[in-house]
Amino acid sequence: MSSPADLPPVILRDAPFPSPGSVGHPDYKPGEREQLIGEIKDLLQQKNAVLVAHYYTDEDLQMIADATGGTVADSLEMARFGNRHPATTLVVAGVRFMGETAKILNPEKTVLMPTLQAECSLDLGCPPDKFIPFCDAHPDRTVVVYANTCAAVKARADWVVTSSIAVDVVRHLDAHGEKILWAPDRYLGDYVKRVTGANMLLWQASCIVHERFKAEALEILARQYPDAAVLVHPESPQAVIALADVVGSTTQLINAARTLPNRRFIVATDNGIFYKMKQAAPDKVFMEAPSAGEGATCESCAHCPWMAMNNLRNLAEVLRTGRNEIHVPGEIGKRALRATQRMVDFVAGKH
Ligand code: SF4
Repeated sequence: MSSPADLPPVILRDAPFPSPGSVGHPDYKPGEREQLIGEIKDLLQQKNAVLVAHYYTDEDLQMIADATGGTVADSLEMARFGNRHPATTLVVAGVRFMGETAKILNPEKTVLMPTLQAECSLDLGCPPDKFIPFCDAHPDRTVVVYANTCAAVKARADWVVTSSIAVDVVRHLDAHGEKILWAPDRYLGDYVKRVTGANMLLWQASCIVHERFKAEALEILARQYPDAAVLVHPESPQAVIALADVVGSTTQLINAARTLPNRRFIVATDNGIFYKMKQAAPDKVFMEAPSAGEGATCESCAHCPWMAMNNLRNLAEVLRTGRNEIHVPGEIGKRALRATQRMVDFVAGKH
């Protein structure tokens, strides 16, 4: 029988979703969108700043990042790009942990975010005051955390990973006989455990976007379009992953859209990714995988409500004022850097 310390606690989301009025494309006045785009481009140059945007953000922000020498990427590439770019200010369009990761890796740079209210249900579902004692109760396990965690959780970890390298890192640790404590995404953890066969104890948080994808409805859609390839992010439930032709990180899914011979794709991840998928494969067709189901109330509907809080207005505002700077306390930052730098070094082949 397992003792209570063996069982990962189930942390319920304790912060509300953003209110519907606080997210989404603002209702721009005539000419405002064009004016803001021009102003942002000028300010990025004047302030020696570079825009680092996630695939799930608004298309306008992705377009500006591309047009001004910034990047649109997954969280691993966002971290790596910010680390090697010479700009003194990184403007991170995404959710809070992405800004914190940029600051951890670049303590000497100024890191700004269009909004500090953009959270992530995985980060919220792994509070340090619960997670740290849980790790302490399992001293025989190597602590591997997903990048979607706060700085204090990263500071307690041995390794930080993203979905693009999670399997490789866990295989590497398993080959060295290490037992793993994984946090926070239970679906990604379960997927990695099944693929690698490693001894993994899983924390029980989840992504509110990916956990809404529905296997039954996806199966019906896939039967309607037998020529379509099904692309699934591994934060999705196991039954959805089981229907996938390709399981991978956002970057890996975009690559699959470009390289697979299929003309049509059903995509189970945030629909913000379609901007880059259409660029990568302009003559192909992309369809959203079914989420909460027809007529159901849906908190995410294949689009992260926190990612949607980034827009042209708040991006221009932080560049004008320098507001929304990210700070990570020195000691936590130093300890978090150790585990985060391991991730960057692992990708660079230094392990
Ligand atoms: S899509 Fe999911 S994992 Fe990504 S930021 Fe939103 S809640 Fe977090």
